[in-house]
Amino acid sequence: MVVYNFSAGPAVLPGPVLKKAQEELLDYQGSEMSVMEMSHRSSLFEEIIADAEKLLRELMEIPKNYRVLFLQGGASLQFSALPLNLAQNKKALYVNTGSWSKKAIAAAQKIENVETKVIASSEDKNFTYIPEITQDLIDEDAAYLHITTNETIGGICYQEIPDAGDVPIVADMSSNILSNDYQVSDFGVIYAGAQKNIGPAGLTVVVIREDLLNEASLFAPMLDYRLQADSHSMYNTPPTFSIYMAKLVFEWLQDLGGVPQILQENQKKAGLLYEAIDRSPLFHSPVNKQDRSLTNVPFLTTSSQLDKEFIYAAQKQGLENLKGHRSVGGMRASLYNAFPMVGVRKLVDFMEEFEKAHG
Ligand code: PMP
Repeated sequence: MVVYNFSAGPAVLPGPVLKKAQEELLDYQGSEMSVMEMSHRSSLFEEIIADAEKLLRELMEIPKNYRVLFLQGGASLQFSALPLNLAQNKKALYVNTGSWSKKAIAAAQKIENVETKVIASSEDKNFTYIPEITQDLIDEDAAYLHITTNETIGGICYQEIPDAGDVPIVADMSSNILSNDYQVSDFGVIYAGAQKNIGPAGLTVVVIREDLLNEASLFAPMLDYRLQADSHSMYNTPPTFSIYMAKLVFEWLQDLGGVPQILQENQKKAGLLYEAIDRSPLFHSPVNKQDRSLTNVPFLTTSSQLDKEFIYAAQKQGLENLKGHRSVGGMRASLYNAFPMVGVRKLVDFMEEFEKAHG
C-alpha cells in the first residue's frame, strides 16, 4: 500500500532526496566516508555547508546584508535567543496568533530585562484569524515585532507581512519557510526549525540582518548570534548530516523551479483540499478563509467521535498522521513542499467516500 504522510513535522521528505542520501550514505563522493563520519572542519564538509548556504540564498533571494546561520536547539531555542540578543533593556512586541506565538511570548517573558508586549491577538476567536496590525499599535522604540508567519497547529497564515516602519519584524517561519514567496527584506530576522520544509530535525536556520547582530557578547556563547555568525555556524560541531540533507532538499527545490513554482503547486494542493472541505456537508474548516494556511489544513467533522473514526479509517487506506494536534483535536493535513498532489487527491476521494457512508 502506498503511504501518504500528512505529519506536521518531522515531515515527508522528497523521494529523490532520500534516494540520493541512500546512494551516498556509505561513500560520499569517493571519500569512502559517510557524511555522518566526517569532520565538520574537513574540506568536503566545508563545501557542503557553503553549498547549502548558497542554495538557500538563491532560493529565498536573501540580500547580501543578511547572514545565514545553521544552528541547533530547534525553533524553540530561538524563542529565548531572540530577546536575549535583540531586546536587552528594550521592548519586544508580539502578535499572538496561537500555540507557537504563545510559546515565543512565554519565553520572552521569562527574561527579566526585556519588556514583552502583546500588541494584537486572535485569542478572542480561538486563533482562527490573523489580526490586523496597524502602525498605531507599534511602539517606535521597540527592538522588534515578532510574528509567526504560519501557525502549524491552528492553520492560519500571514498572506501579507505587516508594515512595522523602522521596527524590524522577526518571524518564526518554521512551517512555511520556502513554501510562500515572502520577501526577506521585509524581515529583520527569520528563523525556522528544519523538520518541515528543509530536512531532518536537528537543524535550525536563522537569517538575520547584519545590523541586528548583537554588539555585546552574551553570557551563553551558543546563543550569541554574533559569535555564531563570526564562526560561520562552526562555533561548535554543527548538525552536519542535517545540513547535508538540507543541501539536497535545496537542490531538489531549485531543480523544480524554486519557490515561485512550488508556491503554485502548494496553492493547487491546498486549494483542492479546501474546496472539498467547503463543499462538504460533513467536514468544515474552523479557519477564516482569507487567513488559511497552505501548509497546515485543520478540519473537523460534526463530532469528535466521528473525527476519530475518520482518522482510523483513513490510516487503513495509507493516509497517515491526519490526527489534529492534541490541543485542538479534529484532523490536520500538513501539505509541505514534498507532499505530493496525488496524496491530496487520495485524501479528497476518501473524504467523499466517508461522507457518503456517514451522511
Ligand atoms: N514554531 C512553529 C511554527 C512550529 O511549528 C514549531 C514546531 N512544530 C516550533 C516553533 C517548535 O519547533 P522546534 O520543535 O524545532 O523547537
